[in-house]
Amino acid sequence: MRFDIMTLFPEMVMNGLETSIIGRAVKNKILEIEAWNIRDYAFNKHSSVDDYPYGGGAGMLMQAEPVYQTYLAIQEKAALPEGKRPRVIYLSPQGKPFNQKMAEDFAKEDELVLLCGHYEGIDERVLEEIVTDYVSAGDYVLTGGELPAMMIVDAVSRLIPGVLHNDVSAEFESFQDNLLEYPQYSRPEIWHDRQVPPILLSGHHANVEKWRREQSVIRTAKWRPDLLEDAELTMKERELAEEIIENREKDLKNEE
Ligand code: SAM
Repeated sequence: MRFDIMTLFPEMVMNGLETSIIGRAVKNKILEIEAWNIRDYAFNKHSSVDDYPYGGGAGMLMQAEPVYQTYLAIQEKAALPEGKRPRVIYLSPQGKPFNQKMAEDFAKEDELVLLCGHYEGIDERVLEEIVTDYVSAGDYVLTGGELPAMMIVDAVSRLIPGVLHNDVSAEFESFQDNLLEYPQYSRPEIWHDRQVPPILLSGHHANVEKWRREQSVIRTAKWRPDLLEDAELTMKERELAEEIIENREKDLKNEE
C-alpha cells in the first residue's frame, strides 16, 4: 500500500514513520510512504504558502494553489487508471472522528493521500475540489494535521498483510466485535504481590478463551458501554454487562 502525505513539515512525518514496525514494513517494501512538501509548489519567489483570510480574522490560511499543485504532482506519480482519482483525506477537527472501522475501510485502498493543514487551515475551494474524506483525530484542536496523519498511517498499515507478524494480526484486538481487549499479563507470575489470574496458568485453552471473552465484556461495560450497543452478546453476557453498567451508574450517583 502507498501513502502520500501533503504537508509543510515532511521531516516531522517521515521521522515518525521511519521507525519501528512501520519503518520495517517500508524497508521490506510492503508499504511506500512519501511526504510531499507543499512549499515546493509555492508559486511566488518567497515560497510562501499562506495568506490573510478574506473577511478578516485571526491567523493565516494555507492558499489553494500550492496544495492543488502538490496534489497534481502526486496524481501524476500515482499513474492511476484513466478517470480514477486518489482518495484524499483532509485531517481536520471538523471531520468524522477516526476509528477502527474507518481504518479497516482505508486499508482496502491501494493508495491514500493525506492532506495536513496548518495555521488556521486551508482555503475551502481546494478542499472542495480534491478532498474525498474529512477525518478528525478527536474533539480538540492541534497546530497541524501531521500527528493525525501519522496516526492514520499507523492504524491502517498494521492491517496490511505482512506488516505485523501473521500470528499477531490474527489475534483478537480492541474494537473487534465492538469489545475492548481483555487484560494481559507476562512474567513474573507475582509482581508487587499481584498474582496473574490462575486460569491463565492452567494450560486449559478453552477456559482461557472463556475467561478472556468475559473480561472483554466486563471491561467494555465499565469503560466503553457505548460500544456494546452494536456488540453481539449472548443473553448471559448482556445480563452481565447490564449489571455492571447499573452498578457503575449507582456509584456515579453516590459520588455526586
Ligand atoms: N481553524 C480550524 C478550525 O477551527 O476548524 C483549525 C485549524 S488547526 C489550528 C490547523 C490544522 O491542524 C488543520 O487544518 C488540521 O489539518 C489540523 N488539525 C487540528 N486539529 C485537528 C484534529 N483534531 N484532527 C485532525 N486534524 C487537526
